[in-house]
Amino acid sequence: MDPQKNLFLSIVIPIYNEEENIPVLWERLSRVMNEHFADPAKPWEVIFTDDGSRDRSLAMLIDIAQAEPRVRVVEFNRNYGQHSAIFGAFAEVRGDIIVTLDADLQNPPEEIPKLVAKVEEGYDVVGGWRQGRTDNDSFFRTMPSKIVNAVTRRTTGVKLHDYGCMLRAYSREVVKAMLLCKERSSFIPALANSFAKRITEVPVAHAERAAGESKYGVWKLINLQFDLLTSFSLLPLQMLSVFGVITAALGFLLFLGLGAYRFLHPEGTAQGVFTLFAILFFFVGCQFIAFGLLGEYIGRIYQEVRDRPRYMVKKVHEKE
Ligand code: UDP
Ligand code: MG
Repeated sequence: MDPQKNLFLSIVIPIYNEEENIPVLWERLSRVMNEHFADPAKPWEVIFTDDGSRDRSLAMLIDIAQAEPRVRVVEFNRNYGQHSAIFGAFAEVRGDIIVTLDADLQNPPEEIPKLVAKVEEGYDVVGGWRQGRTDNDSFFRTMPSKIVNAVTRRTTGVKLHDYGCMLRAYSREVVKAMLLCKERSSFIPALANSFAKRITEVPVAHAERAAGESKYGVWKLINLQFDLLTSFSLLPLQMLSVFGVITAALGFLLFLGLGAYRFLHPEGTAQGVFTLFAILFFFVGCQFIAFGLLGEYIGRIYQEVRDRPRYMVKKVHEKE
């Protein structure tokens, strides 16, 4: 195969300790690929990233790659997390359409053709929207993802239903743009949307994890949520200023109120403590405004440091 030539489709799968799932995953995936993408004019590839698995996953993947030349395995030296694993594979992809999915069979490979068809229609990003998530995903797993979805909708301004679903398809341009981002922590679905012109969602089936346990504990989820919040908005920093303004204003109002009370009831008992509170609130508010201002600068520094591409030129049109 000519390494310079673009392929039609790349499938990207991050793997972390998934030895129980790999055989079924590969069986179902290869069946889908051979059935739906058999056209030799539309070559495909599958890239697995082994994200530092400590079980037999890597050996199994290498076996698959030995038997099927269209499969490649990117081996990480240790565990870096799902999103880094996907990036590791992105750096290798040659397809014009890139599809990511989880290895635990929660994302049925049978849905891939649906997503690919949407990208062929001209969408840059196609998200899967999981139907019927009433499964045994525990409360601690679904509740955070609801929050993730809500926050992401807010911060990115793109109203999708399901940001957590990693069964997604991207055009090559979007993946290229994501690879140019220098930041360390990133949340791929949100990052992709910030580089896409046409975004859509298709309903996809959703199953329970076939085997093994979710690799996300509460701590990893909290981390992911912070990644999301801090990489896509300066909202937390700006909240500081808002809080400061409100506190200072309330302090000032209390001060005015006390003054008025004094005038109306000159015989009233001493309110020195309340006056002190009023003054204190006012100054606490001012301090928060100052924090907020500092935060504003830090936020800007952070944005610069991330060094995301400001824009991506798709093509320069001119007369040939
Ligand atoms: N994964 C990974 N590195 C990690 C954690 C997870 O590559 O540190 C992979 C994992 O093997 C799976 C996918 O990311 O293919 C999703 O993980 P998981 O099913 O545990 O997440 P959940 O479905 O609970 O969100
Ligand atoms: Mg899963």
